[in-house]
Amino acid sequence: MPEIFRLNDYKEKIKNYTGLKKVTDRYPFKITSYYDNLIEKYSKRDPIYLQSFPDFKEIENSRSISNDPFREKNKQNVDKFIHRYPNRGVLLLNNICLVHCRHCMRKRIWTKKKYELNTSDINNIVSYCEKNNIEDVIISGGDPLLSEKELLDEVITKLSGLNSIKLIRIGSRLPVVAPQKINKKIISLFNKHRNLYLLTHFNHPRELTDLAMDKVKQIVKTGTYVFNQSVLLKGVNDSYKILSELFMNLLKNKIKPYYLHQCDLVKGTTHFWVKPEKGISILKKLEGYISGLAIPYFAVDLPGGKGKVLLGPNSKINKKNGKYYFKNYKGEEIIYYLNQ
Ligand SMILES: *Cc1c(COP(=O)(O)O)cnc(C)c1O
Ligand code: SF4
Repeated sequence: MPEIFRLNDYKEKIKNYTGLKKVTDRYPFKITSYYDNLIEKYSKRDPIYLQSFPDFKEIENSRSISNDPFREKNKQNVDKFIHRYPNRGVLLLNNICLVHCRHCMRKRIWTKKKYELNTSDINNIVSYCEKNNIEDVIISGGDPLLSEKELLDEVITKLSGLNSIKLIRIGSRLPVVAPQKINKKIISLFNKHRNLYLLTHFNHPRELTDLAMDKVKQIVKTGTYVFNQSVLLKGVNDSYKILSELFMNLLKNKIKPYYLHQCDLVKGTTHFWVKPEKGISILKKLEGYISGLAIPYFAVDLPGGKGKVLLGPNSKINKKNGKYYFKNYKGEEIIYYLNQ
């Protein structure tokens, strides 16, 4: 099983160790030995290093940028369930992760006390879902696959018991950061629940190791659809070359590239931000040169919890004075602003 490394394990290996401690006081560092092994060079030119090692820019003065631009807190009518769209929602099962991905939209919760939902929390969420005719629940976190399988089974079984529920998705980074931990118990969960879908989070072709692909294959064999959500990250994957390789290799392994997310405007992530125009131009090139099956939606999550807007290769950008004007699914015009 992979070990967990903290920043003091890298005293001799990385530059600016002492300075970076300041960053990790606010946003702690954590990595698995497996993910560390994928790093070729402890340098900002390495896509795995960039995703997992702290950067001074995370704590630069950025008072105008929110910790929680999607007001996830306000969208929880019941604790730990984000209800933004009429018939679907996100359940936050725990706040446990094995790697602290530096671009994480929920990095604000890393220093919060560890939590995991208990039976009474779950019952509250399930009855909320029943009252609101929820059809589709995304179980997220943290990483839900790090909870005890009995707990996951309990949540899935209770949700599946509702008439309204049609599908349940599990969002996990375990296949990327610690595929060893995908064991028989996890695979049998996918075997048991026929309404379960897996959402993975691969951002770079180097993360598609033989071991990771073998574990995904075992889940695919249970008849489960696997979808991938990537984040467009400066220096990690913001090029046609890397994304075309990533998406084709995912598809070949029966993982459908589902979303390419514009990096969320979350405090502590500005060094990863890329302009939406760049995402669109990459999509345009992908459209010509790779299988349509391998091309994901490019999604921008609008601030204020206004929902996602999906951009395609031919999307026209409405931009004035550096501000973008996007329309959400309700037809509301939302201002999007990269206020770096
Ligand atoms: C993206 C998202 C969903 C699911 O949206 P799909 O388009 O169905 O994948 C649900 N809830 C929230 C809060 C989301 O951000
Ligand atoms: S595993 Fe997910 S929740 Fe955890 S740090 Fe990474 S992106 Fe954030």
